[in-house]
Amino acid sequence: MANIAVLGAGLGGVIMAYEMKSAMRPEDRLTVINLGSTYSFVPSNPWVAVGWRERGDISVDLEGVFAKRGITLRPEGAKRVHAVENRIELNDGTFLDYDYLVIATGPDLAFDEVPGLGPQGYTQSVCHIDHALDAKVAYEALVDSPGPVVIGAVQGASCYGPAYEFAFILETALRRAKVRDRVPMTFVTPEPYIGHLGLDGVGDTKGLLESALRERHIKWITNARVTKVEAGRMFVEEVNDDGSLKTSHELPFAYSMMLPAFRGVPAVAGIDGLTNPRGFIQIDRHQRNAAFPNIFAIGVCVAIPPVGKTPLAVGVPKTGFMIESMVTATAKNIRALLDGEAPRAVATWNAVCLADFGDQGIAFVAQPQIPPRNVNWSAQGKWVHAAKIGFEKYFLRKVRLGQSDTFYENLVLDVLGIKKLKDIHLDEVAGK
Ligand code: FAD
Repeated sequence: MANIAVLGAGLGGVIMAYEMKSAMRPEDRLTVINLGSTYSFVPSNPWVAVGWRERGDISVDLEGVFAKRGITLRPEGAKRVHAVENRIELNDGTFLDYDYLVIATGPDLAFDEVPGLGPQGYTQSVCHIDHALDAKVAYEALVDSPGPVVIGAVQGASCYGPAYEFAFILETALRRAKVRDRVPMTFVTPEPYIGHLGLDGVGDTKGLLESALRERHIKWITNARVTKVEAGRMFVEEVNDDGSLKTSHELPFAYSMMLPAFRGVPAVAGIDGLTNPRGFIQIDRHQRNAAFPNIFAIGVCVAIPPVGKTPLAVGVPKTGFMIESMVTATAKNIRALLDGEAPRAVATWNAVCLADFGDQGIAFVAQPQIPPRNVNWSAQGKWVHAAKIGFEKYFLRKVRLGQSDTFYENLVLDVLGIKKLKDIHLDEVAGK
């Protein structure tokens, strides 16, 4: 009998638990440690921030679902992983021993790296459901009293799709509220060009996203370093290709949403051999840590080097498809170890992404992640908005039912969602 622990029950951790439960032997025990007992679907947060979703629409209580599948939930959260001792110290002071550990703790949001950034400062966030609900209050104030808007991501961020998504979703919401004509919008990003996305572009994401921003009268500043934020004012340095200062901007705003840089969570950061200097978990091609070979990691908490050199730090995104492939490889590899075999499964780490604009969107597929690629495809259309709704409905249903099949794999296999989407009633959500 082996004790298997999954640390974190977000997008990666929940499906990790389901896949591990299916892959492990009947005598093995599976425990999931999370901060709280509720799963919340992060990709829908931009919709929450403009009132198109409520908390209840995108949340699942994990207690019952996990109990039905024979998975133990520890909602106390972890204070510290003691990797040398094979145990986790929980926030209530108790300890949990493990034989195998999968770390799926997502990001720690580094708002503190830019003075005035984030919900404790002057900008909104859509990284967490609580932030998105606060952002909705600020959005309603913007509709009541329109003014300039600044949307984007700060230097070191690694999640650009949601920044573009939110700019377009907000633009759609403001148009529908008939106040768009009183809201000048600027997109601010450390990417060297629009549509870089931390992947050096995919297909024609540069052309598609530039054109979409132009069509919607959203100005942009690339190679942008945010130095500080004050009430209603953002200070931005635009740099040249060699990193030297090109020009400084002082951007007034009535509303701003900026994605922060990510780093590893305190429970794992600074463990010698386990994490890199940013606190991300170092793994090999089997999702396994070299110093602690009974520890695996999946999702945003994993260390992935940047795609190439850029004037400002631009991280690589870790999105649903890539995370699903990490989960499947990890479940297979732990099962191999349980059977006394060497781990062989390798995640694809391909990037397949849907970026919603509120009424349409763009999709892209990068295979492999680093160019040059075998598949380097992007496209735009109303179907992307429908597919994103499909992703949400399908994923939440899977979490509620405790199923372990993979959305993105099906999405690609089924010609980008055509088969899956036909089972989902889009009219239920069309009004939102
Ligand atoms: P998370 O989902 O963040 O889960 C981490 C979990 O670990 C949380 O439940 C947290 O409570 C828990 N945790 C943290 N610390 C501890 C601790 N000490 N003890 C116990 N538990 C802990 N990807 C897509 O493919 N499509 C999208 O449309 C998309 N949209 C996105 C929109 C936004 C706004 C963001 C921020 C990301 C988006 N992503 C999207 C990227 C990615 O898929 C998500 O960030 C996804 O949630 C990452 O999954 P994860 O499991 O790594 O982390």
